[in-house]
Amino acid sequence: MSARDLTILGCSSQQPTRLRNHGAYLLRWNNEGLLFDPGEGTQRQFIFADIPPPVVTRIFVSHFHGDHCLGLGSMLMRLNLDNVRHVIHLYYPASGKKYLDRLRYGTIFHEQITVIEHPVTKGGVIEDNGSFKIEAEFLDHGVDNLGWRITEPNSIKFEKEKLLNFGIKGPLVRELEQQGQITIDGKVIRLDEVSWVRKGDVFAVVIDTKPCQAAIDLAKGAKMLLCESTYLEEHAHLAKAHNHMTAKQAAMIAKQAGAEELILTHYSARYRDIDLFQQEAREVFPNTQVADDFKRFPFRLR
Ligand SMILES: [Zn+2]
Ligand SMILES: [Zn+2]
Repeated sequence: MSARDLTILGCSSQQPTRLRNHGAYLLRWNNEGLLFDPGEGTQRQFIFADIPPPVVTRIFVSHFHGDHCLGLGSMLMRLNLDNVRHVIHLYYPASGKKYLDRLRYGTIFHEQITVIEHPVTKGGVIEDNGSFKIEAEFLDHGVDNLGWRITEPNSIKFEKEKLLNFGIKGPLVRELEQQGQITIDGKVIRLDEVSWVRKGDVFAVVIDTKPCQAAIDLAKGAKMLLCESTYLEEHAHLAKAHNHMTAKQAAMIAKQAGAEELILTHYSARYRDIDLFQQEAREVFPNTQVADDFKRFPFRLR
């Protein structure tokens, strides 16, 4: 099966450091590549991460502060150069259209790829194509800024032995799945007698915001929550002043949302040691990890 993981291509906030690039996050999931917030230098980070850029199928821009989008133009040009044939879906807050156009068409290039834009004007379900449901909510960052929730549909898993016992095979399996029941030799067999429902996984992204209800809603029961923690509690006053969060506040969001795993990111350049973020958050939410450039977090099948 293909890779199913989150790769951190950068984890700094506004200002990159020697060790941390502008943010960018690639989620490889069910043969798709979802790229969130391609900051400056994202194209090169793909090379360091040894991941071919054409894996990208969808790009999400949370907002148009530079650390979340300066790499968009070069990523699209790279996909163009690589002659990508699949459609690239591009999601962003609609009010940032003028910035998006500048980023897309800032230089000379012969555009061959197909990009479908999805400007988001209000929260809720943005798209449900059967393989992913994409939801967005506006966060609290002083500018239009979107958090995301990606949900996989539930799927039916058959218990092979039970199917065999009832003599259900071939096209009958599909009939049972579609009808909900099937009659064999006069006996009615219900779908739930021979199968179980695998609940679809949820991945949530909350980057650049003060603590807010929308962040909790997006992260409800998420298998993995990628969340900003620009500051530590000692600088909580700066977090408040700049519409950001501390590691502890991110942990509170994860806890209130009942998320399974929290990945912290978007650290201010003033901090050298990101383990401090982990320590602070783990006091509230033990299953916390810290993002770092090129770290990978498995997003395993349940
Ligand atoms: Zn930022
Ligand atoms: Zn921002």
